[in-house]
Amino acid sequence: MKVIKIGGGCLKDGPAAKKIIDLIAKRGQGDIFVLSAFYGVTNILIAGIQKALGNEDDIPSIITRLKTMHNTIIKSLIDDGNKRKQLSRDLFTIFQKLERYYYGISFTREATPRMKDMIATFGERISAVILAKSLASMGKQSCCLLPEDAGIISNGKFMDASAIMTKTSKNLTAAIGSVMTPRMIVFIPGFYGVSESGDITTFGRGGSDYSAAVVAASINADVLEIWKDTQGFMTADPDNIPHCKLIPELTYEEAAELSYTGAGILHPRTVEPVKRAGIGIAIKNTYQPDAPGSLITKNANTARKIVKSVSYTTDISVLKIYATGIGARFGILSLITENLASSAINIKSVVTSQTCISLLLSRSDIEKGHKSIKKIRPVPFRKSSIVTNVALVSIVGEGLQNNRGVAAKCFTAVSDANVNIEMISFGTSNAALYFLVHEDKLDITINALHNIFFD
Ligand code: ASP
Ligand code: MG
Repeated sequence: MKVIKIGGGCLKDGPAAKKIIDLIAKRGQGDIFVLSAFYGVTNILIAGIQKALGNEDDIPSIITRLKTMHNTIIKSLIDDGNKRKQLSRDLFTIFQKLERYYYGISFTREATPRMKDMIATFGERISAVILAKSLASMGKQSCCLLPEDAGIISNGKFMDASAIMTKTSKNLTAAIGSVMTPRMIVFIPGFYGVSESGDITTFGRGGSDYSAAVVAASINADVLEIWKDTQGFMTADPDNIPHCKLIPELTYEEAAELSYTGAGILHPRTVEPVKRAGIGIAIKNTYQPDAPGSLITKNANTARKIVKSVSYTTDISVLKIYATGIGARFGILSLITENLASSAINIKSVVTSQTCISLLLSRSDIEKGHKSIKKIRPVPFRKSSIVTNVALVSIVGEGLQNNRGVAAKCFTAVSDANVNIEMISFGTSNAALYFLVHEDKLDITINALHNIFFD
């Protein structure tokens, strides 16, 4: 049995969704599909929360907009007018619920994490029903299992939940077992689970990849396929290096590293559950369904080429904290990290020396983070500052650390391109080497590295 995740990028509009439906009808019997919302819907749902808080008069227009979007898609998927009407009736109940949640937050003037998470899941609830009914209208056996009914149990952390695997596995094995037949096509909305006390909790933005991995690991699927509108993992971002190539095989570690910096192929947490279960991940392009794509497995061939990809992110900034003898003082790092955590700021990485701690944060968090640590009393450091005009470059390949010369080759190429390296982090993972350059030097750095390792 396969578990297949279909991303919002493949569900952009009616014609795109129709292509997917035909592909599922042809290849998906006996498999489980974990879905994202239709493209853009989650953003509209979340933006709607603020609007509803502001003015209840805005609520009807949010609902109308969502209804119109989905009705346009349905027209491409279901020819039969009667079957379309039947589906509209099913969706009516769902939209009515959503509308009530919006009025709820409008009346109470409060959007609790519980409410926000509940509302955010409606995109997936709707897309799963639409796809299941569309296949049924083509005479296929299909059904929709909601995470709360199938028992995808989460740890209850709103907006950033994780699945409790032992319980989820037991529940899902039973739930799938009771509906699956060789011809059945099962749909599960991605993005969320339910806590043991019954709260709907999302796995964080982009979390339906993680949902699919949880489902795959829970039922011990043969493979987890991720259907996308792109080829797979590439040796670089095609926007920077148009002649970059597909990476046919990667290890779990490499895929995890590339998920943090790479072009959004996979949600970073996807690897975690399937790796533990030893299940492979195949990235498949829906425009070329027979192309091999990228395959992620434990034993992906690492011998031939150490470096698999050059990747980067510009969503990075540095919070620098200066103090003397950092290595000889107790607790300074924990004071700072606890302070940032209490302001809900995620730390991407930490590099420290004896005189300076550098915390890598998202650009959108840096001002808030800086303000937050300045409030710590008594002040545990001498000085602090921020750097924002940098980019984080990484070369990824399992075994980097044990191979003499890879780092030297990398830094020589960068230096020959006249680029100054602002900071290096090497040694935490065996599959990646990270460094910072000035953002103006990003292009030239990526080109130099791709050139030396791949051309
Ligand atoms: N629809 C959710 C989001 O946009 C989850 C996902 O697509 O993976 O974040
Ligand atoms: Mg996604």
